[in-house]
Amino acid sequence: MFYQLFINACILIAFISISYFGFKDREVNINASYLTKIVIGLISGLLGISLMLNSVYVLPEVMIDFRYIPLLLTVVFCGFIPSITAGILMGTFRFLYFGASKSSTVAFVIIILIVLGFNIISKYVESKKKKWIYSIIYMVLLFSAGLFFVTGISILFFRILVIYYIGNTFVAYVIYQYTGYLVDMIKMNNKLKKEATKDFLTGLNNVREFDTSFRNLSRLTILKEEKLSYIYMDIDFFKKINDTYGHTAGDIVLQKTAEILKDTVRTFDVVSRNGGEEFSALLLDCSAEHAFRIAERIRKKIETYNFEISNDISIDITVSIGIASYPYTSMNIDSLIEDADKALYEAKRIGRNRVVMYKNKD
Ligand code: GH3
Ligand code: MG
Ligand code: MG
Repeated sequence: MFYQLFINACILIAFISISYFGFKDREVNINASYLTKIVIGLISGLLGISLMLNSVYVLPEVMIDFRYIPLLLTVVFCGFIPSITAGILMGTFRFLYFGASKSSTVAFVIIILIVLGFNIISKYVESKKKKWIYSIIYMVLLFSAGLFFVTGISILFFRILVIYYIGNTFVAYVIYQYTGYLVDMIKMNNKLKKEATKDFLTGLNNVREFDTSFRNLSRLTILKEEKLSYIYMDIDFFKKINDTYGHTAGDIVLQKTAEILKDTVRTFDVVSRNGGEEFSALLLDCSAEHAFRIAERIRKKIETYNFEISNDISIDITVSIGIASYPYTSMNIDSLIEDADKALYEAKRIGRNRVVMYKNKD
C-alpha cells in the first residue's frame, strides 16, 4: 500500500515538473487569460485522474490517493475557474470510469466541496503557508466525513484515516516546498532575463540586446529585400544638466526622453539606450524620408517638452539625431551604425538640436 502511495506521489511530482517547463515562460496566476486558465484546469483534472487511476484500494469501493493536491495547487496559483474545471472533470471521470455508486456520488460531492472550500480559504487567508495548512485540514476532515458516510465507524475506518492523514500531510508538505522552489526559480529566471536584455533606468533594450536585434534584423532585411533605417540620438549638453541639477535630475530626464522616444516610433520598432545619454531606434522596413519625418517628430517633441525634475523646476532640453538608411544612404547594411554615428557627429558640429541624414561622400 505504501509503495502504491509512493507511486502516486511520484506521478504528482513528475506532472508538476513537466508543467513547470510548459508554463515557466507564461503568466500563470490569477490574471492569466481565460484560455490559459481552462488549459490549466484541464491539466490539473488530468493529473487528478492519473492519480485516481493509481489509487490504493483500501476497500472495493474506497480508494485513497493524492487527487486533491492538484486542486489545491490550482486554487492557490490560478483561482476559481481552473479549479472548478478540474473538479468537474475529475468528478465526472470518477462516475463514468468507476460506475455510478454511493461512493462515486460521495466522491463527486467531496470534490466539488473541496474546490469551493479551497477557494474560500484562499480568498480569505492571506499567508500562503496558512492557506495550505487550513486547506489540508479542511481536506482531511471532509475526507473523514465522506469515509464515515461510506464505511461507518470501524477499526478499518480509523486505519484508513491514519494512512490518509499521514500520507497527505507529508505529500502536501513536499509539494508546498517544491512548488515554492519552482516559483522562486521562475521569478529569478525572469528577473535575470530582464536584467540581461533591458536597461535598468529606462526599461528600453540595453546595448547587448540592441546588438542582437541589429544582427537579426539586418539579416532579415536582406533576406526579405526590405529597408532598414537607423536613428541615433544624443541629448545635447547633458553633462550640464547633471552638473547644474544633480545626477537624479539627469536620470529623470533620461527616463522621460526614453518614454517620448518609445511613444513616437511605431510599436514594432526596436528602441534602445545605447549608453549614457545616447538612444537609438531601428525602424523596420522604413524608408529614409519616413525615418527623417519620425526623427524630426522626436526632436520637436523633446524640444517643446517641459522636463519636470522637481516640484518647482522644469527644464528644456534638445537632442541631436543622426540617421542612416539601408539601402538609401548606406548600401552596406553593416555600416548603418557607423554611418548614423557620423551623421550625429555632423548634427553636433553644425549646431545641435537637429536631424542629419548620413550622406555618402563617394
Ligand atoms: P554633447 O552635446 O556634445 O553630447 O554634450 P554632453 O554633455 O551631452 O556629452 P558628454 O558626453 O560630455 O556628457 C554625457 C554625460 O552623461 C556625462 C555622464 O556623466 C552622463 N551620464 C551618463 N550616464 C548617465 C546616467 O545614467 N545618469 C545620469 N544622470 N547621467 C549620466
Ligand atoms: Mg554622448
Ligand atoms: Mg550628449
